[in-house]
Amino acid sequence: MLMQGKRVLVCGVANERSIAWSIAQRLHSEGAELAFSYPNEAIEKRVRPLAESLDSALVLGCDVTKDEEIDSMFAELAATWPEIDAVVHSIAFAQREELKGRFLETSRQGFQLALDISAYSLVAMARRAEALLAARRGAMLTLTYFGAEKVLPHYNVMGVAKAALESSVRYLAADLGPNGVRINALSAGPMKTLSAAGITGFKTMLHHHEERAPLHRNTTGDDVASTALYLLSDLSAGVTGEVVHVDGGYNIIGM
Ligand code: NAD
Repeated sequence: MLMQGKRVLVCGVANERSIAWSIAQRLHSEGAELAFSYPNEAIEKRVRPLAESLDSALVLGCDVTKDEEIDSMFAELAATWPEIDAVVHSIAFAQREELKGRFLETSRQGFQLALDISAYSLVAMARRAEALLAARRGAMLTLTYFGAEKVLPHYNVMGVAKAALESSVRYLAADLGPNGVRINALSAGPMKTLSAAGITGFKTMLHHHEERAPLHRNTTGDDVASTALYLLSDLSAGVTGEVVHVDGGYNIIGM
């Protein structure tokens, strides 16, 4: 049991299709105790029963656009768990109109919102989590996508946000490292989730991925959960600041 006795905050479960849910289930099966967060009442209704099904009673409100909610989530968490072993950041958002048409048309407000929720939130969370994680030489994990590295149709401002996120992981790794805290990103291949449904032409992406990836199949929740387990457990004790691709090898193909 790789996570026996370990305490993990999981942010980003919206429903049973969420990548964070696959990760949570795997961590729980390896013995982890879990806490969850939700950004609003609608998501809270979905997250509470899922959390209960994994014996978790710690379900905390946190809309990451609000500093005071990030503060209160970590204060509530610390009141129950003064030390934690891991944080999963599986949060992203862009307005639907930004995920179609030309990137050139991205509005200032749409750009700011996407970068705020999808990239800055990791920095804001890492700052609050640092002391709780340091006591147990813990780890953080965030979810990214290949659109950070290359241009993909309609991914637009999310690609720019993911590039900022991946760079933030490296800068955070340098800051957190001296305290023994690690942080890594997992770059998942396309998966059918609530967020993915907002991307125009997402079905075409799935077909293309299956056809071109060396493994000739799409990425599964189990694929992502296994690598998340590695990145959050002592198996990866010497790894920080990395972006690990879990995409059937799609990213290595040039032509
Ligand atoms: P999802 O919709 O299940 O998860 C996205 C989560 O972000 C939701 O739980 C939502 O509540 C949360 N969120 C949005 N705005 C928030 C806010 N203001 N405050 C707090 N939480 C907020 O979709 P998913 O595909 O599981 O996405 C999880 C992560 O994985 C995202 O970072 C996404 O970009 C990344 N990712 C997804 C894919 C894919 O194809 N689905 C591929 C690679 C990376």
